[in-house]
Amino acid sequence: MNFAFLSFIFLLMISCSQVSKTLDEASEKLSFFDSEQKSKTSDSKDENREKSSSEKSVEKIEEKKEPKPYVDRKFTKVTNTKAVSNYCKKINDKFLHWGWGLSRCDSFKWHHVRDSYLGDPLIWATFGDEKKSKEKPMNVTMILCGVHGDEITPIKFCFDILHHLYKLEPNTNDKKNFDDNLIVVAPIANPDSFFRSRPTRTNYRGVDINRNFPTKDWNEKALKLWKSWYRSDKRRFPGNKPLSEQETYFQVNLIKRYKPDRIISVHAPLTILDYDGPSVTHSDHRHHEVALSAKHLLVQMSKKAQDYRIKNYPFFPGSLGNYAGNERNIPTYTLELPTSDNRNHKKYWNMFKSSIDYAMFSSNKDNKIVSFKEKIPSSSTEDKKVEQSN
Ligand SMILES: [Zn+2]
Repeated sequence: MNFAFLSFIFLLMISCSQVSKTLDEASEKLSFFDSEQKSKTSDSKDENREKSSSEKSVEKIEEKKEPKPYVDRKFTKVTNTKAVSNYCKKINDKFLHWGWGLSRCDSFKWHHVRDSYLGDPLIWATFGDEKKSKEKPMNVTMILCGVHGDEITPIKFCFDILHHLYKLEPNTNDKKNFDDNLIVVAPIANPDSFFRSRPTRTNYRGVDINRNFPTKDWNEKALKLWKSWYRSDKRRFPGNKPLSEQETYFQVNLIKRYKPDRIISVHAPLTILDYDGPSVTHSDHRHHEVALSAKHLLVQMSKKAQDYRIKNYPFFPGSLGNYAGNERNIPTYTLELPTSDNRNHKKYWNMFKSSIDYAMFSSNKDNKIVSFKEKIPSSSTEDKKVEQSN
């Protein structure tokens, strides 16, 4: 190897290392520039984001002025306890049996504290802000169905109400809202009777739940009346003592828990709308105002259902009308559908939808309904003659 060749190689190596150094520096510079560029770009993106969100908020304000488009809320499953989700399957089967389609039971978040005698969960669902209702009085409507298990169509009626509320929830407006209104729905108060192959009026233990409420006249009159007036008719047995049944406890506790401003209990087949509660002729002026508004609602509910017949039916020892309406001054409406015929479910819902809607959302300031809780803080009793039976 000669010297000239070696020096050529040496020079080549030096120049190569310089080139690589320059390249490294260049790439460093490039990467710095790159990151700077990136951060600049992201800054400008943030700006854009901020800008677009502020633009959006302006748009939102503008949107609010426009009427909200109708949201067709699809039924989606929610998580319930295993006991409740199994119960929902049972309800679905029964719905298919009666030709009522899907119950959508598993789209609702159910409350469940106690079980029926045979172990089915006694469930209820609420619409509106329950937490808020504990802090400040809200307009509470409680709807009970299936107290008499052989009156099956009322049970579908309660599910129709639930479906209606579900669809309404994303579309609420000033008049129909869940800010001031709480709705409590217990669709199957007496499951042991409803799920029998041949449903019965009384519960599994043979007690008429609507005669088992712990009313003040129960001990003195309930069994006596059952023997004399009903000639010991098994379908109307009030129990051996008041509040002896889980299904009665269930309703009593719902009333205690939610302190409803009104109760609607759906039965069949008497084709009447009955009212129990403070009467217009009541001497106390606080009762008078509540009574006027309760009567107004009674008339409106009838009017909105093709002038459905209002009949002042008497209440009985141990009945809900006596316990809630008479003794606690909670306006209590018993809606007796024309029949228990499972095939008429759509007809009945269409007939009473407006009445139920009016009852649930009627406490707004622009109409005459007043909250009895504000007017009558404590309970009182007045005597009412017991005459005949439903
Ligand atoms: Zn009934």
